[in-house]
Amino acid sequence: MRKKIIFGNWKMNGTNAEVKAFLELVNKNIEKSDVIAGLGLPFTALQTGIDCAKNVKIAAENVHFDKNGAYTGEISIQMLKEIGVEYVIIGHSERREMFNETDVTVNLKAKALLENKMIPIICCGETLQTKEAGQTIAFVNNQINKAYENISKVDALKTIIAYEPIWAIGTGKTATAQDAQDVCLAIRQNLAKIYDQTTADQITIQYGGSVKPGNIKELMEQPDIDGALVGGASLIADDYVALINYSK
Ligand code: 13P
Repeated sequence: MRKKIIFGNWKMNGTNAEVKAFLELVNKNIEKSDVIAGLGLPFTALQTGIDCAKNVKIAAENVHFDKNGAYTGEISIQMLKEIGVEYVIIGHSERREMFNETDVTVNLKAKALLENKMIPIICCGETLQTKEAGQTIAFVNNQINKAYENISKVDALKTIIAYEPIWAIGTGKTATAQDAQDVCLAIRQNLAKIYDQTTADQITIQYGGSVKPGNIKELMEQPDIDGALVGGASLIADDYVALINYSK
């Protein structure tokens, strides 16, 4: 049975005071269940997240792949580990498009995180142009092939993939549940090619892009969608709770 993993991604939102107030509201309504709940937070709010969250995992939204050194403005894996962060979102399309994240750095980050027993949430997804050219699956599979280069089967099992079509992020345009399912299935088939079917069948694949309380159930009912990575809706406490408790 694959784990169901639903994470918010707050992007560049959330002061410490806001994160504390949010978690105070949310904690009361999130119980241990078969859904792993999480929240991606900006670096400055991670410690507050770790201190205040109950039954909510805290994720960083980026990390550097090197141990330490002259990388002004960057944060290392050790720094995140020290405060108890276990999950890191890597390769988000916003970082790829605006901050020079590449397939190579995503792979370096994934490997470095796994070496340090942390869990990468590896994002992939195509632009509208790629979708319209009918190249979605080829494009996403190429991103996945590069992200998993030189990652062993044992380590691959610890990873999470987030399929987030760029045209669906923050636009209100969700992929139809069937379209999202088709790409998630193609990703799983590709993982079976890289590793084997048993391994592919155990890796959690999230969908992201305009997920809200009103559409999460249908998405989660798809056989190859095991979770969600949620931007906008995860900022609202009631919506976040509704997303995590979608099946109740
Ligand atoms: P929205 O849910 O706001 O579309 O954002 C999706 C996303 O980018 C999550 O990482």
